[in-house]
Amino acid sequence: MTTRAGRHFLQIPGPTNVPDRVLTATARPTIDHRGGEFAELALDLLHRIKPVFGTSGPVVIYPSSGTGAWEAALVNTLSPGDRVLAFETGHFATLWREMAERLGLRVEFVPGDWRRGVDPLVVAERLAADVGHDIAAIMVVHNETSTGVTSRVPEIRAAIDEAGHPALLLVDAISSLASTDYRHDEWGVDVTVGCSQKGLMLPPGLGFNAISEKALSAAERARLPKAYWAWAPILEANERGYYPYTPPTNLLYGLREALLMLEEEGLPNVFARHDRHARATRAAVCGWGLEVLCADEREYSSSLTAVLLGEEHDADKVRQVILDRFDMSLGTGLGRLAGRVFRIGHLGHLNELTLAGTLAGVHMGLQLTGVPVDPTGLEAALEILRAE
Ligand SMILES: *Cc1c(COP(=O)(O)O)cnc(C)c1O
Repeated sequence: MTTRAGRHFLQIPGPTNVPDRVLTATARPTIDHRGGEFAELALDLLHRIKPVFGTSGPVVIYPSSGTGAWEAALVNTLSPGDRVLAFETGHFATLWREMAERLGLRVEFVPGDWRRGVDPLVVAERLAADVGHDIAAIMVVHNETSTGVTSRVPEIRAAIDEAGHPALLLVDAISSLASTDYRHDEWGVDVTVGCSQKGLMLPPGLGFNAISEKALSAAERARLPKAYWAWAPILEANERGYYPYTPPTNLLYGLREALLMLEEEGLPNVFARHDRHARATRAAVCGWGLEVLCADEREYSSSLTAVLLGEEHDADKVRQVILDRFDMSLGTGLGRLAGRVFRIGHLGHLNELTLAGTLAGVHMGLQLTGVPVDPTGLEAALEILRAE
């Protein structure tokens, strides 16, 4: 065990760096979750969380990982044997599909090459072919954290509307929430799945479901077994600021602080900051002479960038050298991308110099592992970070 001076650089795309303000907030004494002080906190939070999802409807907060919130979205809206349409955009879409199958849903999985998002034209085709309106829901991962590709949800919505199809739209916005412009209501999303440890700058442990009117009525008919995840008892208790079980009080303190920070910066500024940092990162990667995994510039992720290395280089070796030498964690290649890509997380609590340091670390790590890099890449990134 070596001793490290200075701060560890946690540049994986979640969990992200937790701001000191948030950490300090979570360190306050836990209070009675059946008392008035808790109810005040919960009512305030349940109200303040809405703009992050772009909704005026209810948001259920679970003590869970994102995976739990995935399950909640499915079991509350669907019935055994229901047909759902999903898309192989990457590792997380594949995991969500597997969960749907294990729950007894019939998944139509549209294959993909892990470099592109959901194709709205394919959505239109599949729905047009479903004349009997048999497909009950469409599952979309908004920002595919394994690939750094962001699907175009408004265009997917438009495709569903043009087909006049009644399927529910379920969206995993786990790694886009509070980093990328997202509009649950405006885009007609029925359930948006979120969690705490990505753009929301919190430790892991909170899962979210934002729920449309249509999803609420679907929930009345949905027959998949559920108990802990059932929306109804939570929504009922939430009306008075309570939970049907012990809530994660200290994480909720942290959530309140994180939401205050987002309000202070202003969501449009938060999104612009993420867009700029993503642009700077891509400028570095392309300038170095390397390839961004995302193959369509309309789908570049503002939360993370996956860097594709040639067959002759081992991306995990690069990550290991960077960790050993510069105390920085980068995201590994997941699933079929193992060893081929590394991922630079640039979401959450991050400023120009954090990103400059991150990119400098990647630059040096690539050099140390014998990956040829053009030094003008870093300068191109700094130019974007320096602008206005
Ligand atoms: C992180 C992530 C998940 C999984 O969340 P867990 O908290 O690890 O369960 C799911 N989907 C996406 C897009 C993610 O980035």
